[in-house]
Amino acid sequence: MKIKAAVLWERRTPLRVEDVDIADPAPGEARVKILASGVCHSDLHHIRRETAFVPPLVLGHEGAGVVESVGEGVTRVRPGDRVIIAFGQKCGECYFCLRGQHHLCAAPGPSTVRLRHGDQALTPLLAVGSFAEYANIDARNLVPIPDEMPLDRAALIACGVTTGLGAVIKTARVEPGASVAVIGIGGVGLNVVQGAALAGAARIIAVDLVDRKLELARAFGATHTVNAGREDPVAAVQRLTGGWGADYAFEVIGHPATIRQAYDMVRKGGTAVVVGLADVADEVAIPAADLMRSGKTLVGCFYGSVSPYVDIPRYVDLYLNQRIKLDELISRRFALDEINEAFRAMDAGEVARGVVVFE
Ligand SMILES: [Zn+2]
Ligand SMILES: [Zn+2]
Repeated sequence: MKIKAAVLWERRTPLRVEDVDIADPAPGEARVKILASGVCHSDLHHIRRETAFVPPLVLGHEGAGVVESVGEGVTRVRPGDRVIIAFGQKCGECYFCLRGQHHLCAAPGPSTVRLRHGDQALTPLLAVGSFAEYANIDARNLVPIPDEMPLDRAALIACGVTTGLGAVIKTARVEPGASVAVIGIGGVGLNVVQGAALAGAARIIAVDLVDRKLELARAFGATHTVNAGREDPVAAVQRLTGGWGADYAFEVIGHPATIRQAYDMVRKGGTAVVVGLADVADEVAIPAADLMRSGKTLVGCFYGSVSPYVDIPRYVDLYLNQRIKLDELISRRFALDEINEAFRAMDAGEVARGVVVFE
């Protein structure tokens, strides 16, 4: 079948919307008609940086849509089902899946070619590739959602919302009354903020360089804001937490300097959580004696440490019952052929989240 897809032919060049061929769904796969796909900073990371995903790539990993057809042996979903696409593998059988750590699944990615442009195979990012009209997806990654859940807001749950809420609820397990600092208030950072509010954190300190983002953080539950361009964020967080440091700090940028700041701004015995995607070559220096003496925890967080079948329906339910904000996250909607403008707007800090919508 011919479809339109935004292709990254070479790093650091604009995406090009092309007519590409999509295969029939292989056994175990479903073909999903994509109706909305959020634009995430990590898509931009694959454009700009050297990563394990080599162009030509079809980016997009924050997608939702409707199942169009299914391959052999698929029983999880049927044509017509409305779904959120969870990325990564979820084999259900490996060392990690058996321990409920589906986000760490060790199964290999798809072995079939799903997308072609002429003779050239295209790799869908994270086995999703949702900047396209259709995507073939391992059916185990599809989470059905109720009819009343709007698909553009559902798409946000495929990455940003799940990563942000999961970081607080699943990775760190923030308790009521805790103090929380959040470094980097993009689409994911805002969800860390609202996750902390949901968890009952007493103090939620948002840290960013852009005042407009800090204002938005307040609307999502931040009690204090720090502009790191005007004030040392570590000193500010210490001042705002009685001199001790925060119980929890979340780094949502993916940079060694801010990871170190997150470590420095938690109190003794506190927990610093790395949520941002750094370069593969980056390393972080932590004072070794302090790590031992302070009893701090520095922990990584991939995909909010969630079990998608359990947690994604919960996050949908939180939205449907007005317990989390998603409408306010979507600042702009773009057509697929405006994809480069969507990246520009995100990079310029003009949007909380941009969403590519189809039809
Ligand atoms: Zn993402
Ligand atoms: Zn697995």
